[in-house]
Amino acid sequence: MYINYQKHLVNIINEIKENGLYKNERVIVSPQGAEITLDSGQKVLNFCANNYLGLSDNRQLIDAAKSALDDHGYGMSSVRFICGTTDLHKELEKKIAKFFNTEDTILYAACFDANGGVFEPLLTEEDAIISDSLNHASIIDGVRLCKAQRYRYENADMNDLEKQLKLAQAQRFRLIVTDGVFSMDGNVAPLKKIVELANIYNAMVMVDESHSAGVVGETGRGVTELYNIPGQVEIITGTLGKAFGGAIGGFTTGKKEIIELLRQRSRPYLFSNSIPPLVAAAGIKMIEMMTETNELQDKLHANSEYFISRMTNLGFDIKPTKSAICAVMLYDAKLSQDFAAKLLKEGIYVTGFYYPVVPKGQARIRVQLSAAHEKEHLDKAISSFEKIGRELGILKK
Ligand SMILES: *Cc1c(COP(=O)(O)O)cnc(C)c1O
Repeated sequence: MYINYQKHLVNIINEIKENGLYKNERVIVSPQGAEITLDSGQKVLNFCANNYLGLSDNRQLIDAAKSALDDHGYGMSSVRFICGTTDLHKELEKKIAKFFNTEDTILYAACFDANGGVFEPLLTEEDAIISDSLNHASIIDGVRLCKAQRYRYENADMNDLEKQLKLAQAQRFRLIVTDGVFSMDGNVAPLKKIVELANIYNAMVMVDESHSAGVVGETGRGVTELYNIPGQVEIITGTLGKAFGGAIGGFTTGKKEIIELLRQRSRPYLFSNSIPPLVAAAGIKMIEMMTETNELQDKLHANSEYFISRMTNLGFDIKPTKSAICAVMLYDAKLSQDFAAKLLKEGIYVTGFYYPVVPKGQARIRVQLSAAHEKEHLDKAISSFEKIGRELGILKK
C-alpha cells in the first residue's frame, strides 16, 4: 500500500521544488538574538526573528525559568481542568489581563490554539464572523471550525467592512476579527475605525495582537493603545512566542464571561496539555519587566524609526508602517531571492518573500527590527542594503 502513496508524495514534493517553493531550514547553534551562529560556523546579524524586544535570550527570563524548574518541576502532564493548573498559570493570566486592561485571560499552548479554539464555542450558525482577507492562517482555520456565517472584507478596507456589516445584519450576533499588525506589509489594522463601525452596526471586535503586543503603542500594549481605545474590544488573542519572550504559549484575553465559557468549551484548552511552569514563570517576569520600565519598547521604537528613515532616504521603497516590520519592496520574485542571498553573504540574515506568500508582483524583503539590535548592527545592515542595492541596480543615485 505504501509504495503507491510514497510515489504520490514524492510527486507532490517534486512539484513544490519545481515551483521554487520548497522551504529549507537554516540551523542555528547559538541562542536566538541580534547576532546568531549558523551550523556552518557563519555568524550573522539576525533581522528575521519575531524577537522584537530581544527577550529570547534575556538573563532575567532565563533565571525566572530556571528557578521555576526547581520550585515547580518540568512538566504538568495534564490539561488545565484536571490537574494542570499551578499558581504560576493563574498569576500569568491575571498579569496579562492587567497589561491589556481586560477582565480575564485564558492560556493556550500557542496562539494558533487560541485562535483555533475561540470561535466555535462562542458563535453558532445564527451568528456572523466578519474577517479581514489577510488574517493569519490560525484565524482562518478557527473560523472554518465554527458554524457561523462567514463574511470577508478586503485588507483594512473600511468601505468593504461596512458593506459586509450591512449584509451581516441578518444574523443574531456579529464578530469582526482582524490581525493587529499584518505580517507581510507590517501595516496596522485601522482599529479605531473598526470599533466605530462595530458600534454603528452592533458588532463585537476581536484583534489578534501577535505581531503588535510588546511592539505597537508607546508602552507596547498593542493596537488598542496606539488608537487610545483600551478595553474597547471584546476579545484579544496573542502569543508568548514573539515579542513576549519567544518561547511558546498563547492567550485569549477579554470580557470575563467570554473567557469563562472558553474554559468550559474551548477544545484546544480542554484537550491539550498546559504550558510548562517555567514558561509561565518567565511570562510573569516578562510582564513585570514591561510594566516597570519602558526601556525595551523605547529602544525598539527608536531602532525602527532609525532604520526606516535611513532606508527611505537611501531611496528604497518601504511600505508605510507603525510596527517593527519593514517591507523593502523589490516587486520581482527572483530579485528578492538574489538580494536576500547576497545579504546573507554580507552577514545579514533576512527573508525574501514572493508569490504566493505575497500577491504576484509584490516581492519584497522583510526586515524585522528588534530592541536587541545596537546602532552598529543597524548601520551594518543599512550599508549592506545600500551596497547590494547599487550592485543590483535598485538604487540609481
Ligand atoms: C504568529 C502568529 C500566530 C501564531 O502564534 P503561535 O503562538 O506561534 O502559535 C497567530 N496569529 C498571528 C497574527 C501571528 O502572527
